[in-house]
Amino acid sequence: MDNRKYTAYCGLYCRDCIPSNQRLFELIEALLRESEDAGLAHYATYKANKIAFLNEFPVAERFLQEVLKLRCSGSGLEGPESELGCMKDCAIRRCVAARDLEGCWQCSLRSTCEPYSSRGLHSTARTALMGAMK
Ligand code: SF4
Repeated sequence: MDNRKYTAYCGLYCRDCIPSNQRLFELIEALLRESEDAGLAHYATYKANKIAFLNEFPVAERFLQEVLKLRCSGSGLEGPESELGCMKDCAIRRCVAARDLEGCWQCSLRSTCEPYSSRGLHSTARTALMGAMK
């Protein structure tokens, strides 16, 4: 059931996506905490006149804080109700619903479908995955 929950209508698997990588976000949070505890910002300011790249510390810190905002614990199936997961206006989602399918992997038009192919979903691995889900 978990695999189905995290498989979007087009066949993309949420857990393969960067925003779903919980370990990555935990490590970034730990790094920011450690940096704060160690006073790295003060050190960078103090040493920047001798070590030029330390002037970039605020940029690096902000980058990590912004990446944390990408974190997603939802799933493609929750998207329409929760604001998480897939786009609400996804053409593929609408098409799958209109055809009363669970996903594109059940669709006989998949090999010639433009919306489906424009998402770059015709890779060998994706096709193999979808074949296995039938
Ligand atoms: S027509 Fe295309 S987008 Fe619609 S269900 Fe079939 S493969 Fe998916």
